[in-house]
Amino acid sequence: MADPSDQWHDNIGGDATIGGKRVSFYVDRECILCSVCSDCAPKNFRMSEEEDHDICFKQPADAEELRQCYEAMENCPVEAIGDDG
Ligand code: SF4
Repeated sequence: MADPSDQWHDNIGGDATIGGKRVSFYVDRECILCSVCSDCAPKNFRMSEEEDHDICFKQPADAEELRQCYEAMENCPVEAIGDDG
């Protein structure tokens, strides 16, 4: 399970409220850079500038992006994605 106290410093942070639900996605240091999340939710996750981990670079803007973010979180092989909303 992802740990918000162990998240990468370069996640975008902040939060989003969609359909009355508040979410705040992040990637923690368990990330193994497999690119599953950036494939599932390319509008929200990408590789970091350092190119050694992925980050959440934008919180979801609508229901479709939210669905993709949850898909990324559920499919991350090391549970490095969390929702601190
Ligand atoms: S799916 Fe998980 S392990 Fe893979 S790049 Fe994304 S955060 Fe990292």
